[in-house]
Amino acid sequence: MTAPQFDSERLLADSIAGKFPDAQGRFGPFGGRYVPETLIPALERLEEGIRKHLHASDFQAEYKQQLKSWIGRPTALTYCARLSERWGAKIWLKREDLAHTGAHKINNAIGQALLAKRLGAKRIIAETGAGQHGVASAAACARVGLPCVVYMGSVDMERQAPNVGRMRLLGAEVIPVTNGDKTLRAAIDEALRAWVSDPLDTFYIIGSAVGPHPFPYLVRELQAVIGREARTQMLEEAGGLPDVLIACVGGGSNSIGAFHAFVPEKSVAIIGVEAGGRGKGLGDNAATLSYGSPGVLQGSFSMLLQDQDGQIQETHSVSAGLDYPGVGPEHALLLAAGRVRYQSASDEDALEAVKALSETEGILPALESAHALVGAKQWAQKNPGGRILVCLSGRGDKDMPTLQSTLLAGAR
Ligand SMILES: *Cc1c(COP(=O)(O)O)cnc(C)c1O
Repeated sequence: MTAPQFDSERLLADSIAGKFPDAQGRFGPFGGRYVPETLIPALERLEEGIRKHLHASDFQAEYKQQLKSWIGRPTALTYCARLSERWGAKIWLKREDLAHTGAHKINNAIGQALLAKRLGAKRIIAETGAGQHGVASAAACARVGLPCVVYMGSVDMERQAPNVGRMRLLGAEVIPVTNGDKTLRAAIDEALRAWVSDPLDTFYIIGSAVGPHPFPYLVRELQAVIGREARTQMLEEAGGLPDVLIACVGGGSNSIGAFHAFVPEKSVAIIGVEAGGRGKGLGDNAATLSYGSPGVLQGSFSMLLQDQDGQIQETHSVSAGLDYPGVGPEHALLLAAGRVRYQSASDEDALEAVKALSETEGILPALESAHALVGAKQWAQKNPGGRILVCLSGRGDKDMPTLQSTLLAGAR
């Protein structure tokens, strides 16, 4: 979507100047807080808690200590000599697959768990789709010593049984959600409901840069460590900034975390890659920014996949982590501002990229992250010899059942 109704230059300048989110929790025209009255006090308390603690030096010291000693940060920057040769450009990976529990989600989960402790919460709730955020939240809660309840769609519990087991081993209670679509969207609704019913003692750890203000801001701040580290590493280890930075976009947390430090760098192009699934038709993909339109979903005004009557569409992607009909409001802003290009990658191309990285570099990427690799391959074709930085959001071990029935079955 191009957005002629927006003053793109102004939006970009305001974004770089750090004016978003504004006092209303808006990223330009997007974001905000579209929730029932009953949720407002809890969101305001959270906002106040963030203002007080998030950037305070004692909180930051504690957060950084967990990043270092428990998550294993900074994660490596890896130059891919053999993949670069195959695809014809210089490719570096920011290795979020090496973060504890195998993906970037832990950066956010531990940050919010620490914040919950500061705010005196007695228990944590979280939602999960594929189970990755549930596992990260369960691990973070175990680490800080808070009980954890994870809401998960009953359909997802069946599809992602190993992650349900992991959460339980980590001490979390997993509650099946049997209403709505019985997947991620229903799980978020249920978590918000549980939060409203006990807002003083409960802290809700949301899993991506979505939801009502202040969640998109909070998650961005906690994931921005990815881009900050990568920027420094490129300068120190790769001799300069990349020509392009590429990340996959589901709800948008690994991407906004990777992008944030690079948005002001005018020489760096930025690309977000969504799930193109099996095609352009409604229901065949989860490419919200590529094919969606503006609307409100789960408390935020952003882009979403809806039909002409505003009914949210079912989505499809081979990667469970990208399979969501909405996207964080800051991405809608970066699209409207013309700063980030959003495109999509098909299931089939993503599977091929899993194979390419595995056999050239000995790194098995998550199917989600493979979408970003597809973007890198396509960019390399048009810009031979260029410098590409890819955010490798997670590792692919969790995807073995899918890979067994696709790549390894010789089906593709
Ligand atoms: C959850 C997940 C994603 C998608 O979520 P974002 O919020 O868009 O980052 C991407 N990669 C991996 C490995 C994930 O687990």
